Amino acid sequence: MDTPSEYPTLRLISHPLVQHKLTILRDRETPTKIFKELVDEIAMLMAYEATSDLSVERVSVETPLERTSGARVAGKKLTLVPILRAGLGMVEGIYRLVPGARVGHIGLYRDHTTLEPVDYYFKVPGDAADRDFFVLDPMLATGGSAAAAIASLKRAGATRIRFLCLVAAPEGVRRVGAAHPDVPIYSASLDRALNDQGYILPGLGDAGDRLFGTR
Ligand code: URA
Repeated sequence: MDTPSEYPTLRLISHPLVQHKLTILRDRETPTKIFKELVDEIAMLMAYEATSDLSVERVSVETPLERTSGARVAGKKLTLVPILRAGLGMVEGIYRLVPGARVGHIGLYRDHTTLEPVDYYFKVPGDAADRDFFVLDPMLATGGSAAAAIASLKRAGATRIRFLCLVAAPEGVRRVGAAHPDVPIYSASLDRALNDQGYILPGLGDAGDRLFGTR
């Protein structure tokens, strides 16, 4: 995992399998079914890296032959929080890796007058202060939704939050990093820029549309 010096909260996941799958994901010819499978697989591989520093506790275990000690992830169940709707595409892959995870949801819309994101749906486990949260959204574009989702989680009491995306724009990394310097951002790529419509370049297009076949 690399952290470019300009972006201290960014953790770039350069694993060859992640990069290989991301390249197929970017291809405009990749059909919806494959796109969905790839998002799922990349999310799982990224979660493997993004969980590498979770705290563990020693536990005793009885093998068929004798008693020994092992390790177990400490604390309450991890909580995945997809930002609706594209974040949903990342849940299942991570869930296969962490089957005990809880899943919250955040839905946001942009207020026409303030242009700021507002929650229209927010549901996470009640004991937020005791949990590790993984906020999921494949695309970190302007960073407005990501920063707002993280702020909502913090208002609910969360203190340990990570953000996982597949592709990040420099603008988004800067905005989330400035608002939430305590939140590491895991991404498979730092792309070049945003275009006038807020799409990431080179990006992969509208992740929600490509995931759910609505383009
Ligand atoms: N959301 C997307 O789905 N794609 C982008 O490029 C930017 C935001």
